[in-house]
Amino acid sequence: MERIGVLTSGGDAPGMNAAIRAVVRAVVARGVGVFGIRRGYQGLIEGAIEPMNARSVSGIINRGGTMLQTARCQAFHDAEGRARAAAQLRELSIEGLVVIGGDGSYRGAQALHAEHGVACIGLPGTIDNDIGGTDYTIGFDTAINVAVEAIDRVRDTAASHDRIFFVEVMGRHSGYIAMMCGLAGGAEEVLTPEEPTDIPALVAALRRSRDNGKRSMIVVVAEGDDAGNALQVAKRVAEVSEFTDTRVAVIGHLQRGGSPTAFDRVLAGRMGVRAVEALLAGEAGKMVGVRGLELVLAPLSDAWEQRGRFDPEYSRIARVLSV
Ligand code: ADP
Repeated sequence: MERIGVLTSGGDAPGMNAAIRAVVRAVVARGVGVFGIRRGYQGLIEGAIEPMNARSVSGIINRGGTMLQTARCQAFHDAEGRARAAAQLRELSIEGLVVIGGDGSYRGAQALHAEHGVACIGLPGTIDNDIGGTDYTIGFDTAINVAVEAIDRVRDTAASHDRIFFVEVMGRHSGYIAMMCGLAGGAEEVLTPEEPTDIPALVAALRRSRDNGKRSMIVVVAEGDDAGNALQVAKRVAEVSEFTDTRVAVIGHLQRGGSPTAFDRVLAGRMGVRAVEALLAGEAGKMVGVRGLELVLAPLSDAWEQRGRFDPEYSRIARVLSV
């Protein structure tokens, strides 16, 4: 393999830059040509492909977002769009592709590999940590640390005013961010999409906490909770209880931005090198994951077939810790 391309796709995540840097430098180290593709599959179809070198990725390890930019690309869902993308790669003799993104991006990579023989390797880059085949995704650690810092600040003001705060964090389909933030931020309650939310039970729990001597309380709400977002939950609680003077803080997109944590940078560096070494060893249609402390290769399809690692044990621990 003489030439390898790299792109970021889907939602951006902190640490994607560190992953691009790792891929580019690992390719350079092997004396192979490396190309950056802008705006994910959209740029691939349009031919927004540029040669890179070790210096192209200087000074980005600490930066959030992605220097290659990312996009959602409707045309890539169609075979015709993927054929155009494959033609762009053929024209430049790029045989291998590292795709940094979530499971949607992997589905695209799988199709490109199956239909056109492009050797694709996926790197998990998403703040949600909701991909099968890996214990951690690049960006998750940064996202929860940003949210926990925000919860700490909210707690200062909640404690000063004897208040209940509903803090909304990202997670349309996954409560993993909410649960980790709740545990790390010492929240009284955590509401996730995976577990049905019962408003009277929530009110009873808040009353119990108050009767136990708590004067301020924090409820972490995943944006995709079945009872609604944080504003809606606060409203429903106010309708059926004495807890009417509550406050809502939506952390939202703040969680995506900012400098990646050391954990995410190291993970991105290790995974990037592994992805390139796998490609050059002839692997394709796989993703790099981390299991415990070890890097592993898994089929791309594990990303969507093996997901659902939300462990109810976390909820139990959160309840024990919030008495
Ligand atoms: P993520 O990678 O973060 O899960 P998306 O689900 O938005 O984000 O997917 C990113 C892009 O991957 C989409 O815009 C599309 O171009 C491509 N993609 C997603 N699903 C498929 C699919 N089933 N077939 C082909 N391409 C897909």
